[in-house]
Amino acid sequence: MSLVKQRDPEQREFHQAVQEVVETVKPVLDRNMEYRQQAVLKRITEPERVIMFRVPWQDDDGQVQVNRGFRVEMNSALGPYKGGLRFHPSVNLGIIKFLAFEQVFKNSLTTLAMGGGKGGSDFDPKGKSDGEVMRFCQSFMAELYRHIGPNTDIPAGDIGVGAREIGYLFGMYKKLKNEFTGVLTGKSLNWGGSLIRPEATGYGNVYFASEMLATRQDTMEGKICLVSGAGNVAQFTTEKILDLGGKVVTLSDSGGYIYDEAGIDQEKLAFVMQLKNIRRGRISEYVEKYRSAVYTSVDPTLDYNPLWTHKADCALPCATQNEINQKDGENLVSGGVRLVSEGANMPCTPDAIDLFLEAEVLYAPGKAANAGGVAVSGLEMAQNSMRLSWPREEVDNRLKQIMKSIHSTCLDAAADYSIGQNYLAGANIAGFTKVVNGMLDQGLV
Ligand code: GLU
Repeated sequence: MSLVKQRDPEQREFHQAVQEVVETVKPVLDRNMEYRQQAVLKRITEPERVIMFRVPWQDDDGQVQVNRGFRVEMNSALGPYKGGLRFHPSVNLGIIKFLAFEQVFKNSLTTLAMGGGKGGSDFDPKGKSDGEVMRFCQSFMAELYRHIGPNTDIPAGDIGVGAREIGYLFGMYKKLKNEFTGVLTGKSLNWGGSLIRPEATGYGNVYFASEMLATRQDTMEGKICLVSGAGNVAQFTTEKILDLGGKVVTLSDSGGYIYDEAGIDQEKLAFVMQLKNIRRGRISEYVEKYRSAVYTSVDPTLDYNPLWTHKADCALPCATQNEINQKDGENLVSGGVRLVSEGANMPCTPDAIDLFLEAEVLYAPGKAANAGGVAVSGLEMAQNSMRLSWPREEVDNRLKQIMKSIHSTCLDAAADYSIGQNYLAGANIAGFTKVVNGMLDQGLV
């Protein structure tokens, strides 16, 4: 850890992600002397390659804007680099490195042959016109295209990158390479996308949560759930909870959150999808339409998020990193939450996670619970290679199977090291062992 911190002192989120893995895989290193001799931790925490580039583009007023682009190719022991692109003003090298690091273990857990990577830009798509987003994406790809490829590195979406951005990025890649290949996932259904890919992260999150509940002879039926976020992951987490008979009472965006005690039903969810995906509006508009719901805007003077103070059975954070701190964790536990399943990447701080584990809350880390998204990306790659597309039920069944298998893999790994029902340690140990064994097989490269 001291080496990692010394090398890049300002990359706090990266340190956090590494620390969590290092702590939980210590027993693995103790059991396998070769891992220490081969310096696997030193190797796995250093990206295989980091690409940083200038992204110049022209806004609608004719002004020249310059953003910074990133692609971190973290680890290719198990397959080509795979992971999303994030467009958000908070993006910097430390954020992309933390996401790429998490992605390595997540992809390892999916059972599919994918290495880990992540990329993005500090570009803020909020309030930008379609034309501006297109010009930005084209400029971004004008550099990225030389570093990626269907057998090398396959980007996808993440925060700020959805179907629209993937379309513009793909169009530019195809033009520059004169090649129509599955170089990006999350493509539109009409031109190479997979059924269930939009739903996959959210559905997978709830499949994983249901597996956890089943270990206590319980189901989602009747559960009151707090969901944060209002993007792709939050939307389809909500949809699957409704399918399984649960009730979702909150959603949020960067401006604030809505609390709807009556529950967000299918019709209200359809409104949110239209609002967020088509109109690109704010979640506050929900209460203008559904008057019994309450909107609370973000209060920067608070050191906790009031969303997590509502009484509920389950919490599914689907917004962003570190959105549940120690105080939020205390509020959730005292509000009666028995399950926390991470739709976002690293949404809980280490203090909050410790509280959940102490209180025997069923806690699933993102690299296990949200792996359904990248898993179906892997299935999209398989379909692209065969030039076939599978029916909805087939992809959904495979997704269910994969989430089941990740769940049992985590439990088996934890049992192997006698650490009980600890999904965090289980996910890290299983993900890590597979990647490290691949690295050792392939020699010092
Ligand atoms: N950004 C998503 C993740 O965090 C999906 C990545 C992908 O589909 O490649 O896993």
